Amino acid sequence: MRGQKRPKRQTRRSFLGHSAILGSVGLTALFAAACGGGRPPVSERAFLLPTPSRTPSTGPTVVPNPTATRPALTSSESSTARPTVSPGRAEQRAVPPSPTPTEAPRQPNVLLVTIDTLRADRLGAYGFAQAHTPVLDQLAREGVRFDRAICQLPQTNASHASLMTGLYASTSGVKVHMVDKLRPDTQTLASIFARAGYQTAGIYSWVSLDPQFCGLDQGFQTYAGYVLNRSMIFSDPRLEQLAATFRQIKAQVPIVKTADAVLGQSDRIEESLDGRADVTNQAVFEWLDAHAQAGPFFLWVHYYDPHYPYAPPKGYDHILGLDYQGSVDGSVETIHKIENDQITLSAGDLARLTELYQGEIAFADFQLGRLLDYLKKYDLQDNTIITVTGDHGESFGEHDDWTHGQAVYESEIRIPLIMHFPSRLPSGVTIAAPAQVIDVMPTLLDLTGLRAQKTVQGTSLLPLIRGQSDGSDRAAFTELADDSFVSVLTYGDWKLIRNDANGEVQLYHLSDDEAEQKNLAQDNPQTTRELSARLQDLMKISGVTR
Ligand SMILES: [Zn+2]
Repeated sequence: MRGQKRPKRQTRRSFLGHSAILGSVGLTALFAAACGGGRPPVSERAFLLPTPSRTPSTGPTVVPNPTATRPALTSSESSTARPTVSPGRAEQRAVPPSPTPTEAPRQPNVLLVTIDTLRADRLGAYGFAQAHTPVLDQLAREGVRFDRAICQLPQTNASHASLMTGLYASTSGVKVHMVDKLRPDTQTLASIFARAGYQTAGIYSWVSLDPQFCGLDQGFQTYAGYVLNRSMIFSDPRLEQLAATFRQIKAQVPIVKTADAVLGQSDRIEESLDGRADVTNQAVFEWLDAHAQAGPFFLWVHYYDPHYPYAPPKGYDHILGLDYQGSVDGSVETIHKIENDQITLSAGDLARLTELYQGEIAFADFQLGRLLDYLKKYDLQDNTIITVTGDHGESFGEHDDWTHGQAVYESEIRIPLIMHFPSRLPSGVTIAAPAQVIDVMPTLLDLTGLRAQKTVQGTSLLPLIRGQSDGSDRAAFTELADDSFVSVLTYGDWKLIRNDANGEVQLYHLSDDEAEQKNLAQDNPQTTRELSARLQDLMKISGVTR
């Protein structure tokens, strides 16, 4: 689907505009030319697994066929069933009373799962009829689903930094992918839980989340990444020196101008790297074996699979059953050609590309199911707050955009957010009011009775969940790394996008126009004025403008 062209502040090939490819790996390539000696950047190196090969013969052995290993849903539990969404609903819901700390024999565990590049509208729970996401769908049926969850900057590191700090990207300081890092001594979810006596672990699946690229390891007692072929790429000890050099360059010269000159042959590097949820799970299970019974824990698990290249394991590569005879695949090379207009996709080509993406999602969903099953091994399922979300979405040609990081349209910023904790949260509830990634942190603290000591910009979602607030005062704010576009989504599904370079605004009413095709700004001057003022306030709060 091709939409109207939007004015661009910079060329598509610039670093930030092209951050989905160069941003996520361009620096990786730069660093990979000289990097960390195959030595994993973790605090518990003995815990690490051998780096697996990506070749099928020696790669991960857990490659289940979802249709063979997981029973099909019955019609009554169809993944397409979508709870009714009614903006403004605020009925009082029956929620068990909160136990006081003295009544609780043990603080609840917290499991936070992020699935990279996961569009909300590709899940059954969010209305996608062809989804193969039974685990996420069941989690939503038994828990709370936020229908309008929005990320604050649609790139991996920035979004995860907002998730972990409860801060907008311009406040956290993590905007430019793999260049910006959290400042030392930043308050994070992990640091708060660690201070409260929790065991803390972050187990992730992509190199950009390595400490030297983001600083997200703060507060984690275990922080470990599992990326296929890491040892081949990260084999030179000069990596950190190059990263530091790049930050110096960035500080002196506008990064848009420097990055393209600095970055060279990056793409082939990315082709050789990948993250796989089954590999990550293996590490997670080992961590649980060692820590599950030792006291409450905060465990963050990051799956990378839906991120390009779209190369789902065998058994997931024809998940929609398309009869495709063309030559388009989900490789990084193909995506580059599409972005460079070297390939014009037919409808069949596009369908095949999204089928591959859907296969990656299905695989991640299955692996999430294995993780949830593993909790039962230690009888943790009832005393663990489970939160699943994404870091950003993915464009497939909507508004002429591909991948992520370049636009604030829904395809890139709307993510799933599901919370599951039957003893304290209601089941089958859908929240229509806007929710932000930065709200996850205060919500988890609210649920566990812990307090932040420093500023958190997000707000707890518990009043919404409990029906104590209708959310009519809520809004969700998103920015891009280069400040080119900003957006605000308000209660009632009104969304305003502003081109910060020329002031042009677009106004959409999402529940009538999910594809954001009908710009209503001119016909609705009052709403446009109100949202523009709201956006301006949020830009000031977030730190985009001061
Ligand atoms: Zn990401």
